[in-house]
Amino acid sequence: MTTPYDPFDLRELHDPDIPLPEGFEANFAATSLSRVYNWARSRSTWPVLFGLACCAIEMIAAAGSRYDISRFGMEVMRATPRQADLLILSGTVTKKMVVPIVRIWNQMPEPKYAIAMGACASGGGPFKEGYNVVSGIDKYIPVDVYVPGCPPTPQALLHGFLMLHKKMEGQRIGQRNSMPWYSRGPADEVPIPVLGPDIIDPRQAEILRQQAEAAARVAE
Ligand code: SF4
Repeated sequence: MTTPYDPFDLRELHDPDIPLPEGFEANFAATSLSRVYNWARSRSTWPVLFGLACCAIEMIAAAGSRYDISRFGMEVMRATPRQADLLILSGTVTKKMVVPIVRIWNQMPEPKYAIAMGACASGGGPFKEGYNVVSGIDKYIPVDVYVPGCPPTPQALLHGFLMLHKKMEGQRIGQRNSMPWYSRGPADEVPIPVLGPDIIDPRQAEILRQQAEAAARVAE
């Protein structure tokens, strides 16, 4: 029996809108460039070798022989963000760690994707009210897939990968909104947060200034 990830199953590549004569399905594929492009990159997505907290143990288990992410061509976890196109945020995001996370994200080349694995990365989890914890990494970088759980099982992470593949397969070459990394000019970097007594997002500098001025007026 062939699986959806059998690399020799041409039905994965075939565009179902294009009819083929009966009996030809296993040996012929009529397809589009976008479908081939998305099929190839969704089955060779390389994650950054990067873990944050307890969820990282489940991510490591997903890479082991029992769950085996190499079935998706993902076993090549890269030790440098410059060779990776997937950032799995597997654990609690402290304010101190936001700075290197944003820096790693900026160093990854486009196209790139982020998975928030677990309750902590998605929304702060059990530490949401903690003085040192960020309530969701999506406040700083764009997240493509959220995997719920505390911790999510390796199977849940595999399901997250399948959801990511689905998102990739919906992107179209030639549609600028769909694949902005082929637009002219460099991609916009996420401003590096400033860590002082608290974490400051430079994108909110104007709001913070207005609030400080309002507070100063009230004090007068
Ligand atoms: S979601 Fe649960 S298991 Fe994952 S890092 Fe947070 S506390 Fe740990």
